[in-house]
Amino acid sequence: MPNPPAQAPGFQRFRIGNRLVTALYDGYVPILAEDLRGVPEEQVRTRLTDAYLPEEGDPHTAVIAFLVQEDGRHLLVDTGGGTALGPDTGHLLDNLSAAGVTPDDIEHVVITHLHPDHCGGLVTAQGDAAYPRATVHVARADARYWLDGEQTARAEGVQRTIHQTAATSLAPYQRTGRLDTFDTDTNEVLPGVRALDQHGHTAGHTGYLVGEGTDTMLFWGDVVHSHSVQLPQPHVSIAIDNEPDLAVRARNEVFDLVTRHRWWVAAAHLPFPGLGHLRRVENGYAWVPTHFRPVPESA
Ligand SMILES: [Zn+2]
Repeated sequence: MPNPPAQAPGFQRFRIGNRLVTALYDGYVPILAEDLRGVPEEQVRTRLTDAYLPEEGDPHTAVIAFLVQEDGRHLLVDTGGGTALGPDTGHLLDNLSAAGVTPDDIEHVVITHLHPDHCGGLVTAQGDAAYPRATVHVARADARYWLDGEQTARAEGVQRTIHQTAATSLAPYQRTGRLDTFDTDTNEVLPGVRALDQHGHTAGHTGYLVGEGTDTMLFWGDVVHSHSVQLPQPHVSIAIDNEPDLAVRARNEVFDLVTRHRWWVAAAHLPFPGLGHLRRVENGYAWVPTHFRPVPESA
């Protein structure tokens, strides 16, 4: 056994309908109690300790991206942090490789929003495209906001870094005509991939829907950052939300949609593999995670 012992490879496969979905672990980020807004901090701390987490917040909130394989097509939803956020994230490529898939296999990358833990992995440390054959799809509203020169010049601190990382991450794709921006009321971003407008967390925060009926899966990006706090209390926002009120509204709408239609959820920041269902409980919602199980040959 290696010393220190290594974790199992960070990928898990599921067959949903006729598509193979692979959850890819990129690493973790801290989500702090002091950044959760809308209820007294003491309540946040109680929620966290009730969930057996440190009251200051969850230091190991997962960052998860997803690979969707269908009819020979390889689609990646988000890319993790790459080298943008330091060594706690940026492990997606290793885990993709452990799953037997190479960056060259990826034809399309859809980005839920241009925060560094979702788009940083689009590029290598040298600023080259990490996915040499892929076209990148992102909501026009997000690209417009984060790439805007004036907004970038005005931004300070973390906000400025986000603008800069977004620009660096998209640059090699833009240069080679492989950046596709779309309006979030577009029905289909790609054949079989529909966009769901979730703006609020960012200007163009987008969910992606694939599949039909109860085999439908929503890749919801950052609808939830702290499941221990925001599932029982969906009105809790987070400091990094661009427009907290709209982020809360989007969360309520999305929660209602996924429970009403019984859709699968693929979430960037729920415990790995971030796949499951949402269930209504008395005053809020609860997470029903999928279970580790063999991958059936076909549906
Ligand atoms: Zn995120």
